[in-house]
Amino acid sequence: MNKKRKEEIFSIIEKQIFDLELNIERLKDKIKPVSPDVSLGRLTRQEAMQEQELNKKLFENSTLKLTKLKYAKNKVFTENFGNCDICDEEIDIERLKIMPETVICMNCLNEKD
Ligand SMILES: [Zn+2]
Repeated sequence: MNKKRKEEIFSIIEKQIFDLELNIERLKDKIKPVSPDVSLGRLTRQEAMQEQELNKKLFENSTLKLTKLKYAKNKVFTENFGNCDICDEEIDIERLKIMPETVICMNCLNEKD
């Protein structure tokens, strides 16, 4: 991958990290324990807890993605960035633009499933 493309990917990563960190901050508020003395009806309280479960999952996925993105950001300008971890072929640039943290190409991903 040439330097210009790497710079492009680098700015995409920075943008994604920025958005993700904002999102994580918002989610942190939403996953605080539902206070037992909130005067909600039984169903509403259950719904609130279900929503909280969903937000917890989102929070976990987001922090995991953030870790991967930060790792990718550190690696963008190394020689092997953009190569598949399994077959060592270049990962499709369009795939990297959407998921810059990916380390596996579509071919290997399909074979894995
Ligand atoms: Zn591959």
